[in-house]
Amino acid sequence: MLTGLSHLLPKVEAEGLDEAEVYRREGLYRPQEAPRIRAGVIQCPICGTNALRFLPFGLRGRRNACCPGCGSVERHRFLWLYLRRRTDLFRGRYRVLHTAPEPCLEDRLRHLPNLRYLTVDRFSPFADRREDLTDLPFPHGSFDVVLTSHVLEHIPDDRAALAQLARILRPGGWAIVMVPFDPRLPVSPEGAGIRSPAERMARFGHPYHYRIYGLDLVDRLAGAGFEVRHVASRAFLSAHQRRRFRINDNHLFHCVRR
Ligand SMILES: [Zn+2]
Repeated sequence: MLTGLSHLLPKVEAEGLDEAEVYRREGLYRPQEAPRIRAGVIQCPICGTNALRFLPFGLRGRRNACCPGCGSVERHRFLWLYLRRRTDLFRGRYRVLHTAPEPCLEDRLRHLPNLRYLTVDRFSPFADRREDLTDLPFPHGSFDVVLTSHVLEHIPDDRAALAQLARILRPGGWAIVMVPFDPRLPVSPEGAGIRSPAERMARFGHPYHYRIYGLDLVDRLAGAGFEVRHVASRAFLSAHQRRRFRINDNHLFHCVRR
């Protein structure tokens, strides 16, 4: 996904490559063709692939990161295990909004008969609806569940997006929020005012990321109307499980609409 970004950056600057084209060339929307898999002890909890090793992923080619079966990376597998073990998403009758849906998750959630499942994305031709999270057209309280992973950092006015997500969730509904998060940062370094994609790349690791989140994310979520539970992969999973499923130091925020 991110491996081609350094290569793309000169084009972003020189050719005025727009945001949608950057996402398209990252290959965000569909997994690549799966390579041959040698069986082993690493297991993907999403698709069940057992592999000797997973594929490298990310700017520095993080080893054993990407499932060769479904294309999931660590955060997708963490989210999947959390949804499986701590929610009744796979049994309850829910109206679900999934933003910028990851194909490895969408392919499975869309077919669950207990869900009314809708995807939105600003650019992807594969999403059910192309919408801007800061200006959603859905009525108040029209969803029970929102899944939004690694989206808010792409939005200059993320508080406006959070206000919309809180608005379209019914009271008691819940959202799982994941973002680039560093618990060592008390305050999120803000880049909404940075106009240069190259500068955002240097500061936040992506030409269209506007921040990395720190601990004040919890206040932002609470300010939008959520009760927030921070779940760290190291607390949620044993060391053995993290090795088996290849899940790194990762974080999610389980947010219940007040
Ligand atoms: Zn998989």
